[in-house]
Amino acid sequence: MFKAFLIKYAEIGLKGNNRYLFENALRDRIKEALERLGKFEVSKEQGRIFISCPEEYDYEETVAALKRVFGISSICPVAVIDSSDWELLTQGVGDYVEAMYKDRSFTFKVEAKRADKNYFLTSPEICSRMGAYLLGRFPQLKVDVSNPEVRINVEIRTKCYVYSIVIPGPGGMPVGSNGKAMLLLSGGIDSPVAGYMISKRGVSLAATYFHAPPYTSERAKQKVVDLATRISGYAGKMKLFVVNFTDIQLYIYDQCPHEELTIIMRRYMMRIAEKLAQQEGCLGLVTGESIGQVASQTMYSLAATNEVCSMPVYRPLIAFDKKDIVELAKEIGTFETSIQPFEDCCTIFVAKHPVIKPSIKVINKSEGKLAERIEQLLEEALNTVEVIEIG
Ligand code: ATP
Ligand code: MG
Repeated sequence: MFKAFLIKYAEIGLKGNNRYLFENALRDRIKEALERLGKFEVSKEQGRIFISCPEEYDYEETVAALKRVFGISSICPVAVIDSSDWELLTQGVGDYVEAMYKDRSFTFKVEAKRADKNYFLTSPEICSRMGAYLLGRFPQLKVDVSNPEVRINVEIRTKCYVYSIVIPGPGGMPVGSNGKAMLLLSGGIDSPVAGYMISKRGVSLAATYFHAPPYTSERAKQKVVDLATRISGYAGKMKLFVVNFTDIQLYIYDQCPHEELTIIMRRYMMRIAEKLAQQEGCLGLVTGESIGQVASQTMYSLAATNEVCSMPVYRPLIAFDKKDIVELAKEIGTFETSIQPFEDCCTIFVAKHPVIKPSIKVINKSEGKLAERIEQLLEEALNTVEVIEIG
């Protein structure tokens, strides 16, 4: 069983003087991800994060948790050799190969890195000498420097590490290194994927769900809670704001032309989400919109929806085909929940022939018909928000 992992990161290595902020965020996210899985010590180490596992732990579970930590480019289970003394090091690397590979009829290459530039051998020298040692100890091995079946990586730091398993991480940047955004989370397929994508860039999330009881059921709400929980497996803890949208929807339904209902509802969702976002210190809104997917997502409709927000609205799926979104939803584990057949607040009040080229002028005029009660209804909706802590 491996007693340690070496964690590599890619992009955060490029951040100049701010690099330590990214490294600290990554270290903290790794700590949180492993918190419930046992005792682990997580530390920074010159361009890497090092995890030591002093006690028994579940390897599969630990690797699965690390694969959800944004910012990790690869996860390498390592054997630690306490001394960089050449005798002990070669011995240790040989023992690693012996323990890892019962059948040693494979081609290999040694790759070496030394953080200690004063080490008495250069990296190429370490490779060739270590290679020679391994060939001597295991005669079935063969060297292939261009296309080896196994790469034996040796890193000489304060201690020495050897590894040959490299598990890809999710990439991206550690959550918390890039501010916070408010996700408009429905029960559909798209918005959870949008949240995942934004949080993969290091953004922490809060989420808003518009609920319309009794037209939408408790089960529809539970589905959104389940989706938020899934996303928080990557994005970390988040607050889910559940807004009671029924009265606003009914009022719009009573006062406005039915073919404009969806657009007007979407505009009120954006307004409310923006208010909550401001309260939460968010720097932008996130939606699962994609050009042309439905009537409310034509370029005209998007312009009309966008017009009511002053915050940037991030739409990571804007140019994605539905099938690519579905693929991602399956990959991140939200798809099965998203396709549960519960009613959505938009579909209940949807018109048979919604406008696909709404004119902002016309929409503003229609919204004028809401003047009498809308401010009061918005205030009520904001005052009765239910906050659910997720993760
Ligand atoms: P999704 O699969 O995300 O529900 P959709 O194709 O159903 O997307 P729309 O219903 O037009 O699209 O919604 C577009 C976006 O508006 C959603 O991706 C989501 O960000 C937001 N949204 C829609 N309905 C709600 C809701 N009830 N609560 C919160 N956000 C919503
Ligand atoms: Mg939807």
